[in-house]
Parts: sequence; C-alpha cells; structure tokens
Amino acid sequence: MQNAKSKRFRELKRSHSWVAIILFIVVFFITAGFIVSYMNMFLSYIMDSKITSEYKAASYMSKAYELAVKENNNEIIAFLVESGRSYVIKDSDGNVKYQYGEDTMGTKKGMLSPDTPDVPHGIRVVLDRDSAALDFYNGIFSINIFEVMKDLRNYSDIDELDPYFDEEMVSDDIHATISTGFKVGYDMSMDNMDMLYFPFWIEQDVTGGTMYIKSFITMNVRDVILFFTFISIGAVMILTIFGMMLGNIISGIVRRNRTLNVFFTDVVTRGHNWMWFIIRGQQHLTRRKNHAVRYAIVNMVFVHYMNYCVCHSVEEGERKLRKVYNVIRDSLGKKEMCAHCNQAEFAMIIKAPDDETLKQRVQSLIDELGRIDSEHTFAFQAGIFTVEPDGTPDKNGTPIRRKKFDIESAYNNACTARAELEGNDDSGIAFFDDKLVEDQKWIDLVHEHQQSALANEEFMVYYQPKYDPRTDELRGAEALIRWQSPEFGFVPPGKIIPIYEKNGFITEIDHYMIQHVARDQKKWLDKGCKCVPVSVNVSRAHFIENDLAEQIRDLVDSEGAPHDLIEIELTESAFFDDKKAMISTISRLKEYGFAVSMDDFGSGYSSLNSLKDMPLDVLKLDAEFFRGSNDNGRGEIVVSEAIKLAKNLNMRTVAEGVEVRDQVDFLASQGCDMIQGYYYAKPMPRDEYETRMTPAEPVQPEN
Ligand code: C2E
Ligand code: CA
Ligand code: CA
Repeated sequence: MQNAKSKRFRELKRSHSWVAIILFIVVFFITAGFIVSYMNMFLSYIMDSKITSEYKAASYMSKAYELAVKENNNEIIAFLVESGRSYVIKDSDGNVKYQYGEDTMGTKKGMLSPDTPDVPHGIRVVLDRDSAALDFYNGIFSINIFEVMKDLRNYSDIDELDPYFDEEMVSDDIHATISTGFKVGYDMSMDNMDMLYFPFWIEQDVTGGTMYIKSFITMNVRDVILFFTFISIGAVMILTIFGMMLGNIISGIVRRNRTLNVFFTDVVTRGHNWMWFIIRGQQHLTRRKNHAVRYAIVNMVFVHYMNYCVCHSVEEGERKLRKVYNVIRDSLGKKEMCAHCNQAEFAMIIKAPDDETLKQRVQSLIDELGRIDSEHTFAFQAGIFTVEPDGTPDKNGTPIRRKKFDIESAYNNACTARAELEGNDDSGIAFFDDKLVEDQKWIDLVHEHQQSALANEEFMVYYQPKYDPRTDELRGAEALIRWQSPEFGFVPPGKIIPIYEKNGFITEIDHYMIQHVARDQKKWLDKGCKCVPVSVNVSRAHFIENDLAEQIRDLVDSEGAPHDLIEIELTESAFFDDKKAMISTISRLKEYGFAVSMDDFGSGYSSLNSLKDMPLDVLKLDAEFFRGSNDNGRGEIVVSEAIKLAKNLNMRTVAEGVEVRDQVDFLASQGCDMIQGYYYAKPMPRDEYETRMTPAEPVQPEN
C-alpha cells in the first residue's frame, strides 16, 4: 500500500516534465544546427562575392602583366605596383623572376574548383603564412575556410568569373581599364576600415612562369554590422523560442508544485495532511543518514472533539484543530514532522532518545494542548510506537532493517496503543508493545472462530451454585460460559466476553446460554432432580432490544422449561438511559415468570438510582465488598445496610465472591439470602453440578 502511494506520488511529481525537457533538448539542437547552417550560408555568401572579386582582380593583374611583357610596357608594370598588391612571378623552375612586396606564401596549396573537362582550370590558391584570421574562423565556427572556398567554386562556373579584358581598350586607356579591374577587387581605400581579414595567394599562369597575387578576404565594418545584424536576428529568434520553452517548463513546474501542495495540504489546519505524512515520513525514516536515530511515531487524539463540535460548532471545532496543529508543529525540533490525519487525529514523528524523555516530552505537549483555550480544558491521548535504530534486534533477535520500514503499519501500531486508552475521558499516553499485537491477534482469532464454535457447541455452560448461608442448602446457581476450543483449549469468559460485547456476538451467546440452561433444567426436571433457579447473564447490547422479554420467553418455552427456574442477571452497566424501555422489559420478564437480578451491585456509581426505578427481584452484592481488609468494620456496615435496603425493597440478596467462613457467618447474621463464592463452590461443569443438586442432605463446604 505504502509503495503504491509512493509510486503514485512519484508519478505525480515527475509527470510531463521529462517531455518538456526532452523537447527542450531537441529544440536546442535543432536551433543550434539552424544557426550553424545559417551562419555558414551567410559566410559563404560573403566569401563567394569576395573570392569572385579577388579572382577577377588577380586575373586582371596577370593579364595586365602579360600585356606589359608583350608590349614591353613599363607603364603597365608600374600600375601593377600601384595596385598595392604583393605579387611574385616565378619561372617554370620556381625561381623568382620578379617580386613586388613581401612573399608570405605558405606551403598549403589548393584548387578552388574541381578539375573537370567543363571547368578546364580552377582558381589555384596558396594559403598565406599569416593564419591568424583563418584560425579565428576555425576556432569560432569550426569552418575550414579552404573547404568553404572550394565548395563555393563547385557551383560557380569558373569561366564566368573570367573578367572581360579588352586588349584594344587597354592600349587606348590602359590606366582606366586596369584601375577599374583593380577596383572590382581589393579596394585599398577600405584598408583602414577592415576589421578582420585573411590573406591568400591566387596563382595565375603567365608566359614563362606563374604569377602569385596576394589577395584578401576581408570583413570590413559593413560586413561585421551585417553579420552581427544577422546574428542578432538569430539570437532574438532563439531567445524567443527558448524563452517560450523555458516559460512553459517553469509554468509546468509551478503547476505541478501547486498540485502537490493541494495533494499534501490539509484543508482544516492548512498544514500537512496524512498523505504528506506517510510519503515524507517514509522517506525520512528510511533515509540512510537517519538510520541510527531512534524515533517515535505518535498518534495524538483530541478526546471528545465531536462533543466539542456539538456543543459549539464544527467551525469552532476546526479552529481548535488549527490551533492544536500549530502548537504541535511549533513543538517540533529539527528532522521531526507532524500532520493532521482525520477529524481529531494528529500524526507525529519525533526523536526518542529514550522512553522516559519521550514520555515527558509527549506529556508536556499534552499539557500544553490541554490549555489552548482559556475557557476549556481539553484532554489528549497519545499512542506511541518507537522506531528503533537500524540493526537493533527485534523480539525474535532479528536485526531491524530500517530500509524495509513501513510507516503505515507503524502508525497503525501507535493507533492500536492509543486505542487502549479508549473509553477513558482523561488525557493519557500508551506505548505500543508486542502484547498489544498478541491481543489484537487473539481478538481476530476469537472473531474468526466464533460462528463455528457456536455451531459446534464448543461453548460449555458451567454452573456456580448459590447456597443459603444459614442452612448451607443449594438455592440457586449462575450459568457461566467456558469455551472448550479444539485449537486453544479451555478459554475462560474473561478472554472472550469483552470481545463478543464489542463485536456484538454477545447476543448470540446470551441466546445460547439461555437455551442451554433451559434445556438442562428441563432434563434435570425430567430426571426428577430438585431443581433450583439458574441465573443467566444478559448483556447490555441485548437489553436494548425491544422484544428481549419475548425472545427469552420463546427460547425457554422452546425447551419446555418452567420460567421460574430461569433468572436474568443484568450488570449495572446494562442500565441504559431509556429507563422507560428498561422498566418495560424488566416488567414483562417478571410478568412471564422470570426473576431479574442486578449483578455486581456496588461496583459502579448509579446502583442506588437504578434500584429506585427498576422493579428487580434480586440484588447481587459485588465480590469487591469481600476483598481486602475490613476497614475497621466499615465494609461490614455497608454490606449490612445494602442487605437491609434490598429487604426494604422486597429484594433477595446474593453475595458474590465469598471465600471464607467468617464472611459467610457475617452474611448469615445479616440475613443475606444466598452466597455464591469459592467458599461453597467454584463454577463447575454440568454433570458435577447435577451431583450437587440431587442430594437431599446439605453439602459440606469445600474448605
Ligand atoms: P460475573 O457475572 O460477575 O460472574 C461471577 C464471576 O466471579 C465468575 O467468573 C466466577 O467464577 C467468579 N467468582 C465467583 N465466586 C468467586 C470467588 O469466591 N472468588 C473469585 N476469585 N471469583 C469468584 P467467570 O466465570 O470467570 O466470569 C467472569 C465474568 O464473565 C462474569 O462475571 C460475567 O460478567 C461474564 N460472563 C461469564 N459467563 C457469561 C455469559 O454466559 N454471558 C455473559 N453475558 N457474560 C458472562
Ligand atoms: Ca453475573
Ligand atoms: Ca457478578
């Protein structure tokens, strides 16, 4: 169960966030790819235009050189120099024939177009030694500029790049033509505005050798502005997309946290609820770093909370619960927790160094809670279950494993301990121990076996005789149940009756006993025994039924026993509020010929009141009158007065639990009608009782 709840919680906690995260990563990579290709395109565009113009300029220079050589025109050579470009002319053996400017050629050579039949020659390039700009591009964009240039040339028809060179025109206005050609290429006037550049050398075949012309790919202010404008647009786009996604993820997290809050918040106290307690508590106690700490799980109950709500209002009651919660919460130390579970129950996890300290702490909390209202004093009951450190041996010697700890069953144990205080109106503390488990197991077993025990007649009727103390003659008996269980052996009533009273099975037991006593009486009568009235206990639960008198009459009649041989015993606790109904039932029982007795007189508080109202026949003095010391004769005075009272009310008296001769003599002297006690006899099986009944001679006491 615990695992199922934790699992549900984990699902709730992580639901959908992983989808958003994956989506975020996917979009991140798509966007990054988009940016890289976008910049690649942009860079390629710039390269394309620049290489094209550089190539044109180089071609012009080589053609101008050819012309100069052909015409032996030094003027043209001078113009080449004027262009400001470095160039080197080498013969076919590689010797420098002519050089202007510094030769900074590197070793790496390449072709910027594939050497195919369609493209008879490409742009042959030699990289420059100054590779700073190249490194810059490589570093930032991981782009091999050489490759980029090569790619560019793949789709450019190299022939189209050949500039129109009109030799006629050159001879007419060579200055104008060459300078126009140069202008198409590298414009020296822009030099001081260049921000980035990298040089390379374009190789051109000329008569008698090869001409290398220094060229540049430059990024001037305009390019950079353009570049950054594009970058900015891209960045804004990315930021927008990422912002939206991030917003989505954050709002998802906020939404999820809100859901978790609702899931974990108690509507009454606005604090933590039961769900929170079992999930967080479980995590807390099973966490490795808490394994060595001894904890206590406490079930704290506001006693009579419902009554308080009835007397005041539910709203007022809830206000008190809030206050209680706050006091409990404020009392907590580090690594301790509390929650409001249901109605008047609170759950706590607190540190428990030892039982005494723990008890004192819980007691002072109960005291504090009791005083939360200046006009009322409240009672609180606490059930405590201690959680031992990891490795502590349990009752079987097996080390406790905190990893396997189950908070729900631990809290249930605390509740079971607290249930021991139920029925008590005062504050109190109860510790859970293994006996409680045993008790609970026994309750379950009894419950489980009750129907079969009844059907198999495992319940036996024992009879405890009642004697006249003056004559020692048998005057009556009380039927007392015993359970002869094939599994559990001989079980006394104290181990089953309270359970049956709680679970309602007692009414069936009452029927069973009445029926069996009536059956026995009938049998003994038929045998010619001298039968005396036998009293049967009838529980309060049964007495509430309107037609109880008729049920008893019919049961006895069905066995054919005379009504005057059956007596009904009622304990004081059976006297309930509806006096009218009680009186009516007792009156009808008497009408049908059954005697009715009040059991355990003197053990409670309302005996006298009950005597006043109820038309009873017999008063059974509780065994407590005959326990312990005589208190200077005060006990005897009370007993003697009780007997007188009964006589005045026309009731017979039975003294229970009498064990010694002196008590018998005293009761005889006071006119007590019967004695039911070990002095005469213990409860006995049917057959033994039968032997007590038959003798004409008075019996001798047992001891
Ligand atoms: P009870 O009705 O007050 O029964 C008297 C109890 O006192 C019996 O205990 C009896 O054995 C015991 N007793 C009698 N004389 C002496 C004595 O001199 N010394 C001592 N120490 N004890 C004495 P038992 O049979 O164990 O029954 C206990 C209680 O269980 C009964 O108290 C009664 O309340 C309940 N009970 C027993 N049988 C039935 C039943 O058939 N129906 C119902 N509803 N309750 C029953
Ligand atoms: Ca009784
Ligand atoms: Ca009794």
